[in-house]
Amino acid sequence: MGHHLRSEPGGLHPEEFRRIGHDLIDILADFFGSINDGLVTGNERQADIRGLLQPRDLPPDSSDAGALLRDTAEKMIRHSLHNGHPRFWGYITSSADPVGVLGDLIASAVNANVGLWSLSPMASEIELQAIRWIAELIDFPTDCGGILVSGGNMANFVCFLAARRAKAAWEIQRLGSHGGPKLIAYVSTEAHTWVDKAFDLFGLGSDNLRWIEVDDDLKMRVDKLDECISSDLAAGYLPAIVVGTAGSVSTGTIDPLIKIADLCHRRNLWFHVDGAYGAFAAALPDAADDFRAFQRADSIAVDPHKWLYAPLEAGCALVRNPADLERAFSHKAFYLNKDGVADDQPVHFVDRGMQNSRGFRALKVWLGLKAAGKAGIVRSISEDVELSRRMAQQLKKRSDFEVTSQCLSITTFRYVPAGIDPVTNGQYLDDLNGRILHELQAGGRAFVSHARVRGVYVLRACIVNFRTTAADVDALPQIVAEIGQSMHQEMGRSEEV
Ligand SMILES: *Cc1c(COP(=O)(O)O)cnc(C)c1O
Repeated sequence: MGHHLRSEPGGLHPEEFRRIGHDLIDILADFFGSINDGLVTGNERQADIRGLLQPRDLPPDSSDAGALLRDTAEKMIRHSLHNGHPRFWGYITSSADPVGVLGDLIASAVNANVGLWSLSPMASEIELQAIRWIAELIDFPTDCGGILVSGGNMANFVCFLAARRAKAAWEIQRLGSHGGPKLIAYVSTEAHTWVDKAFDLFGLGSDNLRWIEVDDDLKMRVDKLDECISSDLAAGYLPAIVVGTAGSVSTGTIDPLIKIADLCHRRNLWFHVDGAYGAFAAALPDAADDFRAFQRADSIAVDPHKWLYAPLEAGCALVRNPADLERAFSHKAFYLNKDGVADDQPVHFVDRGMQNSRGFRALKVWLGLKAAGKAGIVRSISEDVELSRRMAQQLKKRSDFEVTSQCLSITTFRYVPAGIDPVTNGQYLDDLNGRILHELQAGGRAFVSHARVRGVYVLRACIVNFRTTAADVDALPQIVAEIGQSMHQEMGRSEEV
């Protein structure tokens, strides 16, 4: 039977929706039930995947919705890389909380447009509550302004734009960045690439971004930051924003946020924290002292689709003063009805970010927070951190691995075969570990990514995964060593030593 939205009142008949939906839930429940058994990825070729998508051209006629959904679900499950697999530790991509998966279904069924309060009364209030809960969890003022966005990059952009508007003493909305002195921001050399992208996209020019060097622990050198600000002031520029990172993307390092907060206060700069990965670790009872500096930040970007396990996509921007957020994004538009009760003005999220029409991504985040509660969230994050420490210990026990860092839930390491002196064979080890990474990712038994730590090419495992167990972690060294041995032999170096 064909499918056409108007062929039934309301598209798919409710009874048909029920039947197809039940079938689909069965398929997905089986997927979750068996995700541990298979490989992380089948490593299929691009052409083979593309070949599955037949016919290639736009179908002229309708399809049976039930068969179509079943077939699509099965194909997705069989031919995807599974970041929910217990041995997926690449990049910072978490396993998806099944509660959030179902939350997305509710969100798209009700289809609230969370741009205007009047179009989304319940959804807007849920989003506001999710924002307050996130702030509370990481000990940021709960009367802050906030908005859910698609991810960490967007959350950082939103905060950055609020900072830019607040720090430009001229009418930047009308005059653009030409209306005043050059606006300068400061980040460490370990910062995420979003900062570069922001300076480019928002017209400030990436030459006006200062990359501050890091110390031996990969943390921003605040003395260098201070010097750099002085020389920019002397040159007539406008030092405006310092970005501190709470959990760097390569190694999970936390910048000296307390010192940065002091300096920003003294110099009257906007203090932004990129906590896309690490901010939620502020909720742990043994959180590092520097997380306490959140209380003094002007803005923080966090990523519920990382350590809150929300299914993609969900980022969140938090700005201490809600007016700073609205000043950057609120534009008058005649056709938008923003009426409200005078003493209880509704929040219209269109005034807090870049989007106009907006989906209800907040629901899966809110559900995840409510379902787990603070204790549940703290426990999952602690377990990830514990597992990562265990991984570092297991690797350290062996003579054929070197652990280069362990912070939050990120461990970096490299394979160093017996007889190879790392001091004189740096390039060889970079190449060898690069080949190991390639083989490991293709084999699908476990999945890590890579990084450069103090110039050295390393493998990098980031555990943001509630399915990972100690046994999974313990299996990694041997898997990597087997690949390492055979790559080392293949590269023809074993005879030379
Ligand atoms: C992941 C991450 C980002 C980017 O977040 P996306 O959700 O991938 O857009 C930015 N900064 C840091 C520190 C991150 O870990």
